[in-house]
Amino acid sequence: MSTELCKLKKSLKGDLPSYVLLVNQPRFVCTNCGRVANKKKNLCSPKRIKDL
Ligand SMILES: [Zn+2]
Repeated sequence: MSTELCKLKKSLKGDLPSYVLLVNQPRFVCTNCGRVANKKKNLCSPKRIKDL
């Protein structure tokens, strides 16, 4: 399974608690699809929020 949240739409509803753990303290935003995540590896086009 991909670790990129951008591609996890199908599994999101079935495992929301696990998803929340990846996004509850977001430091990166995906410049491609607008999602946020704690770790850049979870986004397909990550950008540090701090740098924006
Ligand atoms: Zn993305």
